[in-house]
Amino acid sequence: MSARRRRAPRVRGARTTIAAQALVLHSSEWSETSRVVQLLLPEAGRCTVLARGVERASSPWRGVFDLLCLVEVELEAEEGRELHALRAARLVEHFPRLRTDLERWYRALYAAELAEAATPPGHPAVELFAALREALARWCEPGVDPDAVLLAFEWRFLDAVGLTPALTACASCGRAVDPARAQTAFFHPAAGGVQCSACRSRAKLDLMPRRGARERTAWRRVPVATLFALDRARREPAPTSADELAPPNRALHRTARLLLDDFLAWQLERPSRVRPFLR
Ligand SMILES: [Zn+2]
Repeated sequence: MSARRRRAPRVRGARTTIAAQALVLHSSEWSETSRVVQLLLPEAGRCTVLARGVERASSPWRGVFDLLCLVEVELEAEEGRELHALRAARLVEHFPRLRTDLERWYRALYAAELAEAATPPGHPAVELFAALREALARWCEPGVDPDAVLLAFEWRFLDAVGLTPALTACASCGRAVDPARAQTAFFHPAAGGVQCSACRSRAKLDLMPRRGARERTAWRRVPVATLFALDRARREPAPTSADELAPPNRALHRTARLLLDDFLAWQLERPSRVRPFLR
């Protein structure tokens, strides 16, 4: 006698409703008419949402989940399940200028990629959400430098996810970099930023590459005056077209770009898909 096996009925977990604004970070096909969407919400953080029927011509939500849109959603979250159900959605902002300017579009995609990669599901992301929403709005203003907006976002992003690189103090012992004692300092993403010579020789950091982009990463020798200037610049808000734009400091910008590219490539689990298109 063999008892026929029955699949145990799935026990449903407690359900909660989440209603908030969200940014569309990523979207992929689930079926002919449905999509799975990665959203970033301020309090609920990154959420994976099944948007059933969203591709039907008759769907009221068609086009709402275009990449990098700001939307208002109502989600149903079930305890123990990562996939949320969509209950309602409304488009708030489409950021149209982004979609007609490749230079801005790829920078915005890169910002979204960073946000997606650095945010574990369900962790609050209030500051990151605000930083990304503001950067998207700034990329829509005429006359702004798209690179300056990206750079300002990256500094704010690193602060928001707790990865700020040390620029004016040793990342290991905290000793302040003293411009009276040294003209240059050494920066490495594995060290968390700059590291004093004592810590560098004592720790003998294992900088052997583990994968991908890390193989090309080396110590960078940076003038101390530049590190202090970068530290001041990263605290400044991103310039807007309404500001009186000071001539951008190209040399400082280039150094920031080098250090951040090293640093972010090191921190990301996978090489960026978008970064190669930003040149
Ligand atoms: Zn040190």
